[in-house]
Amino acid sequence: MTHKEKAEQLIRQRFYCSQAIMGAFADDIGLDIKTALKISTGFGSGMQQGGVCSCVTSAVMILGMVYGFYDAQDKEDRVISSRKVNEFMRRFADKMNGAINCRDILGKDMSNPDDVAAMREAGMLSKICPNVTSITIDILEDLLADRLGDMVDGTLDLADMQESDEMQTVLASLRKFRRFRKNVNNLLFSAKHNVGFIQFDIRQFKIVNDLYGERIGDEILDFIKSQLEEVCKERQFYINLRSDVFMVVTEYSAEEELVGFIQRLNARISNYKSVKLQMTYGVYTVEDRQMELRQMEDRAAMARKAAKQNAVSNILFYKEQFKESLYNRKFIEENMQAAITERQFMMYLQPKYSIAKNEIIGAEALVRWRHPERGMIFPDQFIPVIEDNGFIREVDYYIWGEACRFIKQCENDGIEPCPISVNVSRVHLRDNECIKVLSDLIKNTAIPKGMLELEITESIDDQAVSSKAFQLKDEGYTLLMDDFGSGYSSLNILLETPFDVIKLDKRFMESMMVSGKGKLILEQVVAMANKLGLGLLAEGVETKEQVDLLQSIGCDQVQGYYYAKPMPKEEFYELLKNQGNQ
Ligand code: C2E
Ligand code: CA
Ligand code: CA
Repeated sequence: MTHKEKAEQLIRQRFYCSQAIMGAFADDIGLDIKTALKISTGFGSGMQQGGVCSCVTSAVMILGMVYGFYDAQDKEDRVISSRKVNEFMRRFADKMNGAINCRDILGKDMSNPDDVAAMREAGMLSKICPNVTSITIDILEDLLADRLGDMVDGTLDLADMQESDEMQTVLASLRKFRRFRKNVNNLLFSAKHNVGFIQFDIRQFKIVNDLYGERIGDEILDFIKSQLEEVCKERQFYINLRSDVFMVVTEYSAEEELVGFIQRLNARISNYKSVKLQMTYGVYTVEDRQMELRQMEDRAAMARKAAKQNAVSNILFYKEQFKESLYNRKFIEENMQAAITERQFMMYLQPKYSIAKNEIIGAEALVRWRHPERGMIFPDQFIPVIEDNGFIREVDYYIWGEACRFIKQCENDGIEPCPISVNVSRVHLRDNECIKVLSDLIKNTAIPKGMLELEITESIDDQAVSSKAFQLKDEGYTLLMDDFGSGYSSLNILLETPFDVIKLDKRFMESMMVSGKGKLILEQVVAMANKLGLGLLAEGVETKEQVDLLQSIGCDQVQGYYYAKPMPKEEFYELLKNQGNQ
């Protein structure tokens, strides 16, 4: 029986929803069903006072049983367990339109007998509650997926399973996982030398699937498995964790031996028929064998993820700092909501200048996070995290609003306003919400559309970005192509582009300046932009030499520390006011 089927059965037997959830996951957390039902009996009492929905209470209890920590000094374990709980709360609230309290979910008060009677009458309890239970189970299953192996250890009730093909596959992989874990535990217990965890995956496997089709994708995975089968000798074990993620655990004496093993493996699996595959390897070498197995696996996973960011080598050994980024992420996730409500995010403005006129022609809005204890946090530290979890929307909407309000304020105060450009994260380009938000903002603040400009980082291979950019262009916005020349952008994308202005990336300019040839390329870009009627703005301009060079090749618009650093909006306001008075 699935978790949901078990829960439905319990609800039919008139158990509470908290009991249904605990009962459904009893096996997974190593409790017998009676104990699970007994301990969750009272979970609903807080809820009856209007408190948190008891589906949430049972879910966090289950997460605690699987991921909880018992060593108060173990910072790493603490982080992982609270991340899981936070993630659960976020997803649950998301599904429930922000509600986590029983009273808000039902719209009625369970402590009020009249309300309860009315709900019964309307059949609400038999509709809404099972639905919330089922949503809770979905999220739990997803969050617990990586612990499948732990969970089934010894507790899986095979008699319950139906004989479908799908079930057979699941069972087979569970058995494999269990065997792998057992082998690894034995190895950790008996190894005379060192033990290393190697986790690897295929870079951009999704693209491989898209390009060659899923059948080839599956063939590739089978091919890797067969190669691992051949390469792994005695005291070397492998497992296919999920999709294209694999793990190998091996005994070794010296680090070179471990690297040699990876290189040999890599040589075998980096070509399948005509498909070239790029792998990233994360390695964790075990120091303390008493550590929990899952912690060792997590560390290899952290190293693999870090290897993805690393341009130099595709093999990376775990370092303690990786944990720092985990802590940093946790800090951001735990504090971001309060940062919005307590107005800790602030808009800074960095002026853009015309070299020839030596005056301000616009500004870029850049977010800053002033945390009451941590002080100033810069975007590079938190934007990647909030882009991952989608919170960037809230932050961007706030900054866009601030930019519109700033423009309006200048207008009201009789100061000649200049266009302000805001950054539009790629996250926004996946749906249509941002177009509506933008047009509402412009309408509500009653500013001319041309005053708010949009900066988007363009890349040639991203259809979604490109089509959304065209849509925004049709809506009448001025578009700036951010970070031109920082990645793979090519001159071709300029030929048919919805963008109005190209922002030359700082790195592009730096590399162009070091040689005569580079200068020639830069000249060509400027000439081409001029010919195509595109505006051009150089960012990150720091020196007089750069200004002179830009001027000599016909690029007049600049932004950078040479002229001004990003500043609080109040300071920029004064600057603009003074410029108007001159
Ligand atoms: P970006 O859009 O390329 O912004 C330019 C960055 O370069 C800013 O960093 C700015 O402070 C910095 N900069 C400006 N002039 C110079 C210079 O002369 N030399 C050097 N070395 N740096 C200069 P910042 O503010 O830390 O922002 C970093 C990135 O974070 C931005 O890069 C942008 O991608 C993102 N970001 C910042 N604010 C927002 C926002 O409100 N929303 C979104 N979605 N992204 C934002
Ligand atoms: Ca920008
Ligand atoms: Ca930029």
